[in-house]
Amino acid sequence: MTLFEQAAELREAGTGIVVMPNGLRALDALGLAEDVRRYDMQAGHWGLRDRLGRPLLVTGLAEAQQVVGMPAMIERAELHRALRAPLPPGVVRTATSVERLEPDLTGVTVISDGEPVARADAVIAADGIGSKLRARLFPGHPGLRRTGRMDLRGMLPRPPGMAPDLLVSQLVDRRNGAMFGLFPVGEDRLYWFTDSRLDGTPPDADEARRQMLSLMADWHPLITELIEATSPADIYVDPIARLAEPLPSFAVGRIALLGDAAHAMPPDLGQGASQAFEDAAALTRHLKGGEPADVTQRLLRYDAERRPSANRIMRAASRQSRLTSQTGVKAWLRDTLLRAVPSRLAARQLAALWHA
Ligand SMILES: Cc1cc2nc3c(=O)[nH]c(=O)nc-3n(C[C@H](O)[C@H](O)[C@H](O)COP(=O)(O)OP(=O)(O)OC[C@H]3O[C@@H](n4cnc5c(N)ncnc54)[C@H](O)[C@@H]3O)c2cc1C
Repeated sequence: MTLFEQAAELREAGTGIVVMPNGLRALDALGLAEDVRRYDMQAGHWGLRDRLGRPLLVTGLAEAQQVVGMPAMIERAELHRALRAPLPPGVVRTATSVERLEPDLTGVTVISDGEPVARADAVIAADGIGSKLRARLFPGHPGLRRTGRMDLRGMLPRPPGMAPDLLVSQLVDRRNGAMFGLFPVGEDRLYWFTDSRLDGTPPDADEARRQMLSLMADWHPLITELIEATSPADIYVDPIARLAEPLPSFAVGRIALLGDAAHAMPPDLGQGASQAFEDAAALTRHLKGGEPADVTQRLLRYDAERRPSANRIMRAASRQSRLTSQTGVKAWLRDTLLRAVPSRLAARQLAALWHA
């Protein structure tokens, strides 16, 4: 097996990432969960709140945990280490951008820089949200669509003595549809993210940080404190995009798509990576014990298993994004309804979101 990576070295931009209970179960199946589960979130409360931190919908994590288990909140670099650790030396070939795949009756030739770099029985295209390989496999597909939102992500040490009230919270502002999320990473670090409207091209981290400080100046004081305490060098800015339409298939002959290449979605459900882990677990199961001659059939079974559920999550992530970014009367209605939801029902809703 060979893994081609276009980057010169394997390294991951900082900040945290949530791995949902379904993603953890997929990692269990792949024998990769142990180090990730060390970052299981501790029981406490999860809350959707208004910009001042007042509860709209707050529920005990333990209640949702009983139904589906707890997610893990881990630093991206740590997650990468856990995924890479079992790979034998020589499997990863960095600085190799896969330009195209040339399938024939007996296998697939992998082309980089105009030259063949490998021949394989099957190829898994996992080249992320901007997948070139997806575009080549489905030339008629409209590709990505920007959602008109941008996200900032930051990480910092947890300030000593910080009250836990707003941990594991998402604060929303119905005046402009902006959101701020706050999660603990282990005992001593915090991961925060913002989601807000983006007109035009995304600003650099310095400018984006200034914009958020101004947009959130009259929010709960902790928010601006945390953004101010995060150096622009530790802030990442992403314009948000999703697949304009679901793909007609995750498998074409001996080639399968996995992760964002197959089902790029907005990050609002925190499911992108977990869906990729589910893909990987399903592929492993379907390809295990196979012969080169039956690869196509096996990849079709992978497609039949994964496409309906990954596409359902992709649609749900877009719905969630619309729900939290609403403004005006719709947002007022949302907040009024959320305040009326009993905590027990909220736990079930949260479990449904986590389980996906
Ligand atoms: C702001 C934000 C917050 C998010 N938060 C979460 C979260 O909390 N939880 C969660 O589950 N998901 C989250 N996501 C989504 C998550 O990051 C993605 O779903 C996940 O990284 C997808 O993994 P992937 O392996 O498919 O693609 P990537 O992580 O994009 O990996 C693709 C890799 O392929 C390489 N590559 C690309 N093209 C080529 C080529 N031609 N040849 C060789 N190599 C190539 C790239 O360099 C890269 O290393 C978030 C996304 C954003 C934008």
